Amino acid sequence: MARKTKIQLKAEVVVQDLRDAAHHWASLPVEERARRLQGAGRAILSSAEELSCLLSEETGRPLTESYAIETVGVSDLFSYWCKRGPELLRPRKGQIPALDMPGKSGLIERRPRGVVGVIAPWNYPVVIPMRAIVPALLAGNTVALKPSEVTPATGLWLVEKLRSVLGPVVGILEGDGRAGNALIKARPDMIVFTGSTATGRKVAVECAKQGIPCEAELGGKDCAVVLEDAPLERAAAGIAWGILHNGGQDCASIERVVVHARIAELFERALVQKMRSAADFIPDLATEKQKEIVVRHIKSAVDAGGTILTGGLPEGDGPVPPTLIRCSDRSCAAWTEESFGPLAILDICGSDDDLMEAANDTSYGLGTSIWTQDFRRGEKLARRAKSGMAWVNNHGFSAAVPDLPWVGASDSGTGITNSPEALFHLTVPRLIVVDRAKGVEPWWYPYSDKMLNLMRAAVERQRKGGVRATLKTLKALRARGKELS
Ligand code: NAD
Repeated sequence: MARKTKIQLKAEVVVQDLRDAAHHWASLPVEERARRLQGAGRAILSSAEELSCLLSEETGRPLTESYAIETVGVSDLFSYWCKRGPELLRPRKGQIPALDMPGKSGLIERRPRGVVGVIAPWNYPVVIPMRAIVPALLAGNTVALKPSEVTPATGLWLVEKLRSVLGPVVGILEGDGRAGNALIKARPDMIVFTGSTATGRKVAVECAKQGIPCEAELGGKDCAVVLEDAPLERAAAGIAWGILHNGGQDCASIERVVVHARIAELFERALVQKMRSAADFIPDLATEKQKEIVVRHIKSAVDAGGTILTGGLPEGDGPVPPTLIRCSDRSCAAWTEESFGPLAILDICGSDDDLMEAANDTSYGLGTSIWTQDFRRGEKLARRAKSGMAWVNNHGFSAAVPDLPWVGASDSGTGITNSPEALFHLTVPRLIVVDRAKGVEPWWYPYSDKMLNLMRAAVERQRKGGVRATLKTLKALRARGKELS
């Protein structure tokens, strides 16, 4: 057997410590866990300035953006889950048909999975892992965080803060992809992964090998669809923000824009103006590798005959400027691959069908936005988007609303964070049935013609319904009961 690496041994210790802490944590009433989590939330927020500065230092983005996207977002997560969680986790009574199965009651409880491993990306190093950590803890799990190697200080800060209030119910495993892999091999009870599609596939394979469930939120190539009746000013401002916030390093960044031919010229001008005026607020790309990808994508669109409407290749070692390229060749890398930078490709179409066909022309499926003043038409087209989320007259902001699911499709992964739906994945149902019936059940041995009659009557009752069919079942039930007594 191969010798275990240092990081593997460390991962095993982290997971074992969390397993040891899990029993006591899960045994607390959910209201008590919510109370303690509220305390942890207060501790984090009392250091809001420190956290926001650390975030800006590590990611290079403006302090306002660190506050707006992460610090405020974390505060909302605590208040939502601590308020709604206990109600969502309350056991529910199962519905058991009284005629066929008298005397029985069933209760479905939601119990924690155990130790949840959270593997996080660098682009939002606080709010993304916390979207899993807060509900996971509330549900009674303990959590091992593997923060991104690009933002290690924020990950450590977060875990230390949580541990200072909650104790050893949160652990950390620092390092790069090898640490992520070691965490999976240490066999926690579930992995929540957020990151690129390529890594997500590797993570899913390793989880399958270890036999543990995996929730994966992956990359995106979101599209904004601008109809001919779009509110021009709002659409241009919203789409510029959708392309550029956090330097375009957002899974739901707008990377493709398709515009109705009737307003294409006007809209292009408005969007270019908004993008240029945002240049001062855009952080540089977080890694050199990321910059190389964006540069390659700009070149691919130009090589495919695209026209640069604003921005273009960086000057020397300078940052990539906010870039918009009109290009109708949908086979270029800038259209097909995730750019994760301040770049969008714009194409022009002549009808709703063509616009939606273009929007859906991607292997990704995170978000789509439809910009129109006709809300009904917008909603109708939103339903034709093949992405997990679609917004009318906005883009991506719903990530900040804990009650709404953040969910993708296709290459964007189908993992869910936020919303009651996410809580379902972080727990497993436990069924408790109590039977107060006496005697023997009509479906127990010995089988007989009377039992067969009863089953036929039950099927007929399901098929036809009504009093006669019910009376027939009762008669068959009595006959079978007599036979068994
Ligand atoms: P990444 O895939 O490079 O890394 C994500 C995490 O996985 C990091 O912590 C990394 O160390 C770890 N990792 C790398 N290799 C691993 C392996 N073999 N096994 C286990 N873990 C491994 O992603 P990134 O560059 O940090 O983040 C950007 C990507 O994340 C983009 O593609 C973006 O779209 C995506 N993202 C998606 C969402 C979403 O909600 N869908 C949100 C944010 C970011």
